[in-house]
Amino acid sequence: MINAKARAVDGPDKPFRAAEIKRRDLDSDDVLIEIKYAGICHSDIHTAHGEWGPVNYPLVPGHEIAGIITDVGANVTKYNIGDRVGVGCMVDSCGQCENCRKGEEQYCLKGNIPTYAGVDKYGEPTQGGYSTHIVVQEDFVLRIPDNIELDVAAPLLCAGITTYSPLNHWKVGNSKKVAIVGMGGLGHMAVQIADAMGAEVTVLSQTLKKKEDGIQLGADNYYATNNPETFEKLAGTFDLILNTVSAKIDLNAYLGLLTLDGTLVNVGAPAEPLSLNVMNLIGHRRSFAGSLIGGIRETQEMLDFCAKNDIAPKIEVISADQIDEAYKRVLASDVKYRFVIDTSTM
Ligand code: NAP
Ligand code: ZN
Repeated sequence: MINAKARAVDGPDKPFRAAEIKRRDLDSDDVLIEIKYAGICHSDIHTAHGEWGPVNYPLVPGHEIAGIITDVGANVTKYNIGDRVGVGCMVDSCGQCENCRKGEEQYCLKGNIPTYAGVDKYGEPTQGGYSTHIVVQEDFVLRIPDNIELDVAAPLLCAGITTYSPLNHWKVGNSKKVAIVGMGGLGHMAVQIADAMGAEVTVLSQTLKKKEDGIQLGADNYYATNNPETFEKLAGTFDLILNTVSAKIDLNAYLGLLTLDGTLVNVGAPAEPLSLNVMNLIGHRRSFAGSLIGGIRETQEMLDFCAKNDIAPKIEVISADQIDEAYKRVLASDVKYRFVIDTSTM
């Protein structure tokens, strides 16, 4: 067993504390990663707070992991000691089902094994990236391009792929009109990626406070959703709306902003159910869809796309002692635009 330092939480209302956790000895296809940076995703907060259902505490969250390989199993072929790598939201899947064979491991019919709050093939609980080390089988490890620093690489492993995948799937190039709802961790990546894909990008944020940043990141337009005129002015405008909001929003108001055949894709995952009036779909043959992270092959494609197009998250690096404070600030929409933990402070 390999000892790792970590930050764990013991219950929905508990603060983070220092912990020692065990990582398994390397199997033949495993690599050992010394984690350098771990991003804080709003999903970590939903999970740590027990909002998505019961959790086995103590919990070590973190699925935006960037680090260096320090050991490899006997049969590892893709990676060497010293390689700069990342790990995202999943660490395993069945590998056999139709979806896994298509490279859509996130939709594994037997369920993918999440990086934390899951149970691995040995029956052990998985623990995430707020930690100094992790052991992962090589097929679920990503290569970080040389021109992306490890601290900014970390958020790409969830915020990057979660926004790249639907923008890619719904083919937003060719000046398609795309709206990004919510400019937090996911939203500010979506703006950059949609812009680089060739879309005409509009941000729909609660207020105009972050307008300058949004325009600088590549948005063509920026509107405040606390102003009812926004919904009148933009009615019937967008081919695609990507909703990244972590809380319940009035879907019907946003569906009204879609064109004929337009699609509203939800990646935001609030605990409360969202409701919609089907008349808002029927009237203009609109669709409402969801999307979960992205497969391993597509995640590598996203990393290479970001490297090529100079796309990077805006981050605030924090120490391990600042996690509780960072959670509070994310909940207050006071993050510009991703907190990243420097694991050397563990
Ligand atoms: P985040 O950094 O907190 O950003 C969420 C943004 O939503 C905020 O910055 C804010 O943007 C807006 N917002 C927050 N509360 C709101 C409210 N009450 N009404 C309207 N807008 C509000 O969170 P994130 O890390 O980007 O994650 C966003 C959501 O995506 C979370 O629910 C997370 O669990 C989910 N997620 C899903 C996947 C997936 O695979 N589908 C993957 C990762 C994360 P403005 O200040 O601009 O209004
Ligand atoms: Zn995430």
